[in-house]
Amino acid sequence: MLIGSIERASEHDFPGKRAVVLYVRGCNLRCSYCGYAGLLGSCDDRNGHGWAQAEDYLLKRLERLDGVVFSGGEPTLQEDLRHALERVKSMGLSTKLDTNGTQPEILRDLLTGDLVDYVAMDVKAPLENYANLVGRRIDVELIRTSIWVVKQSGIPHEFRTTVVPGLHTTRELKAISELIHGADRYVVQDFVSTNPLREELKGRPAFPNKPLEDIRAYVERRVRSYEIRHVDEARPMPVARRRMRSKPVAI
Ligand code: SF4
Repeated sequence: MLIGSIERASEHDFPGKRAVVLYVRGCNLRCSYCGYAGLLGSCDDRNGHGWAQAEDYLLKRLERLDGVVFSGGEPTLQEDLRHALERVKSMGLSTKLDTNGTQPEILRDLLTGDLVDYVAMDVKAPLENYANLVGRRIDVELIRTSIWVVKQSGIPHEFRTTVVPGLHTTRELKAISELIHGADRYVVQDFVSTNPLREELKGRPAFPNKPLEDIRAYVERRVRSYEIRHVDEARPMPVARRRMRSKPVAI
């Protein structure tokens, strides 16, 4: 496993848990709004920390932790993800997996193995619009299958969309809520415009709150809960990423 950055323990990223976030290196997508360019390189890139170092970091802080989040990049591309999850569970910690949903078979294997306590999967757009967002040719049936795998897993979960003005509409968000019908939670979250992959998105203001609120009743008829996360709130997902370091931290 190659870890590009370790986020200090906080309660921002794992519902109900005080958790460290491990941002792995390597992703198979190139989302135009992605703010994690420093993590997108090959999983074979040697510019990062290995699992042994991360484990040492966790063991030194065990008493102050409830859990560990595997984020990225795309964690399911890491060959030793299962081993890392097993090690974290053996420490008595809970685990959360963040994924882009492109590897449903690996996801299925992990979610049936009692290794993951919470899973957050990105649904970036309605399936017919995926190619516009992710910068790679992708078989969207993989995304559909992953949605099914997550919903069937019985594991607490959320699906989330990073909403970008000009790239998303509320009609699309409603369509996503149809796609994930029956899910535990649907989260729409601000994108961080400080360093997006596509330069023209830099500095673009966040998606306005009102239209996101206006679709609440529609979305809540399809999923158990609907959450709007803003970067300036006390417990938003993107805060950790806003503080993310582009270079590995010393551990
Ligand atoms: S937003 Fe996530 S899935 Fe998309 S390129 Fe960035 S790390 Fe990969």
